[in-house]
Amino acid sequence: MQREAEVVAMMIGKYCRALHHPEDKLCPECEELLVYAKKRLARCPWQENKTACGQCPVHCYKPGMRRRIREVMRYAGPRMLLTNPIISVRHFLDGRRKKPLGRAGQSRT
Ligand SMILES: [Zn+2]
Repeated sequence: MQREAEVVAMMIGKYCRALHHPEDKLCPECEELLVYAKKRLARCPWQENKTACGQCPVHCYKPGMRRRIREVMRYAGPRMLLTNPIISVRHFLDGRRKKPLGRAGQSRT
C-alpha cells in the first residue's frame, strides 16, 4: 500500500507539472487530490488484495475526486509505463480491462 501511495503521488506530480505548471510543488488542487487519494488508500478495505481502483466495487472516491483522479491516471498512466515500468502502475491500467477478484478456477467460499 505504501508503494501504491508513492505511485499515486508520482502520477499526480507528473500530471500537475505538465498541465498546471506549478513552481516546485503541486498546485493546491492537485495537492488536495493527492491528500484525498492517500486517505482513500489508507482506508481501502481491500488493502493488499484490492483490485485496481478503476474496477473497485467500493467506489470509494466521491464523484468530483473520482473524475480528477481518472484524468490523472489517463494522462500519467501510459507515461509512467514508459519512464517508470513499476509493477504497481500496471495495477491501475489493468483495472480497465480485467474483472476484479477473478482468480480462475477458484470457487467463492
Ligand atoms: Zn495541479
